[in-house]
Amino acid sequence: MHILVTNDDGVLAPGLLALAQQMRLLGDVSILAPDRNWSASGHVKTMHRPLRVREVRLDDGTAAMASDGAPSDCVALALLGLLPDKVDLVVSGINPNANLGHDITYSGTVTAAMEAVIWGIPGISVSLDSPENHLGVLDYEPAANIARRIAEKVIKRGLSKDILLNVNVPYLLEDQIKGTSITRLGLRVYRDSLVRREDPRGLPYYWIGGEAPTGVPEQGTDFGALAQGMVSITPLHLDLTSYRQLGELISWEW
Ligand code: MN
Repeated sequence: MHILVTNDDGVLAPGLLALAQQMRLLGDVSILAPDRNWSASGHVKTMHRPLRVREVRLDDGTAAMASDGAPSDCVALALLGLLPDKVDLVVSGINPNANLGHDITYSGTVTAAMEAVIWGIPGISVSLDSPENHLGVLDYEPAANIARRIAEKVIKRGLSKDILLNVNVPYLLEDQIKGTSITRLGLRVYRDSLVRREDPRGLPYYWIGGEAPTGVPEQGTDFGALAQGMVSITPLHLDLTSYRQLGELISWEW
């Protein structure tokens, strides 16, 4: 079992280290992740500049590789031949914040797992629903243990090649977590607002600011599971077709 570990927060992020340490209990682990933070960068393919890869050491001495590309570039590099051995599973995270509902289209953590699916390898993205304004160091251990158990099951049962699992873990002690729920995407409520300011030369610049987003904690959704203190596992595929609208649109007689 050869597992590729990546993330979108940068190769030296503590969530990646916690995840890699647990994945090592399941097989051989290769680490290739961005050399800087790519959070909320979406699904990227770098085509107009070269990509560089260099060796780095994580805090526990583990050898890893860092690229100046996006998370999805890292996965593509690894699966297209940078790693000599075939990769069986791609695990991305652990992101310090939840990736729920529409977040999946922005998330570098999730799009890394999407890239794995594009190349026919099962992908798992793991995010921690840490409280807003959390101060100090986050404890990634419960989420890392849960990620290991989920990856173990995926290895044992096999996952359809066109599916990734988007995992979100409540920020609780492990014995306080109420269980695991298989969910659909819920509804994120963004509270973004446009902030316009002037630079020292009097020219305007813009910042997408506003309050942190919330969500609708509906039963059966990723938001609903977290609100109940449960781990959320949402199976995702890349087919964004609206099957509900197909019939209606066909009836428009084009
Ligand atoms: Mn991130």
